[in-house]
Amino acid sequence: MTKIQTQVYAGRVKDRDTLRASSSGGAFTAISDLFLESGDAIATAVHNYQTHTMEFQLILSKKERNAARGSKYMQSKPGKIFQIAEEWLCQNPEKKLLFVGVGCQADGFRRFIETKGLRERVFIVDIICHGSPSPKLWKEYAVSLEKRKGKITYLTFKDKRNGWKTPTAFVRIGEEEVMIGDYVRVFYNNCALRPSCHECPYATAKRKTDMTIGDFWHIEETIPDFYDPNGNSLLLIHTDRGEQLFDSIKDNLDYCLSDTKQCWQKNLEAPTPVSERRHEFWMDYQRGGIDFIMKKYGTTPLRNKIMNKLLRIMGGVHRK
Ligand SMILES: Cc1cc2nc3c(=O)[nH]c(=O)nc-3n(C[C@H](O)[C@H](O)[C@H](O)COP(=O)(O)OP(=O)(O)OC[C@H]3O[C@@H](n4cnc5c(N)ncnc54)[C@H](O)[C@@H]3O)c2cc1C
Repeated sequence: MTKIQTQVYAGRVKDRDTLRASSSGGAFTAISDLFLESGDAIATAVHNYQTHTMEFQLILSKKERNAARGSKYMQSKPGKIFQIAEEWLCQNPEKKLLFVGVGCQADGFRRFIETKGLRERVFIVDIICHGSPSPKLWKEYAVSLEKRKGKITYLTFKDKRNGWKTPTAFVRIGEEEVMIGDYVRVFYNNCALRPSCHECPYATAKRKTDMTIGDFWHIEETIPDFYDPNGNSLLLIHTDRGEQLFDSIKDNLDYCLSDTKQCWQKNLEAPTPVSERRHEFWMDYQRGGIDFIMKKYGTTPLRNKIMNKLLRIMGGVHRK
């Protein structure tokens, strides 16, 4: 594979149902369709509702792939996916494989598959990442919720009913939608991210994968004519094979050429900084457990709620 100067596109799938079901602009579905429609495989993370963990799986059908849609804010487990993917490639010598994971997972897979001499049959797409919270946190949060309310059958962090810029996070329990904004607040206050996320070497626009996908944040300001409130993907193309992928999916996308200035976001420049409250957060967790920290770190104080309401009316900035 040949490295090229990184090409930048803003894009989103034309199919509106797919766009609504995707976290950003649906780039993942557009790319994975290519492989699944020609009998090839994809390896990516899927949420397991029995264990409350994100686990990598080898996927061969659109039904399984659809279950992988949507960002889940917890660290996913590669498990045995490297060996499973290698075995599948050896047993299916005519076929190709697409690997999709966050930067560290995708680069790990690239190195592994290169040592096996199989890189030519593999396409690697990585996802821009703010950082992953400890998987223990979600597991305990979900177990606690299930004890109080019943079995979780669906989870989303990025429902678009209020638009892509203000996602709604909830779990479905029976007929009820239970909001999980406290967990999301803990994700964004950066207390619970893995220590390695704060030193992430993949927080850059230059990567060794074929393509990087993410949200095209601030597109309403940088390319207002192209902005869609229902979701916008950023696609960074790094190799000739990434270019080949983009050429094959572009008929299914609305897209426009962009550049690294327009698509700038913090996690393309540097890892997420460590929260000043990280130590206190984990000490509180040791002492008080999951429900205590969700209450302490995941709720907005009443004073700030009132301030936010006033600021919203006046068109100002929100306090967390
Ligand atoms: C923890 C996390 C942090 C992120 N931070 C940013 C950010 O700071 N900036 C930004 O631009 N984009 C970020 N993203 C990426 C963004 O939210 C979308 O996942 C991405 O743009 C793909 O969206 P899509 O519409 O193409 O497809 P979707 O269908 O929404 O994407 C599904 C893909 O995401 C994978 N995925 C979901 N959760 C995980 C997980 N926990 N670990 C590994 N893979 C997962 C699925 O396996 C599948 O491959 C983050 C994603 C995650 C999971």
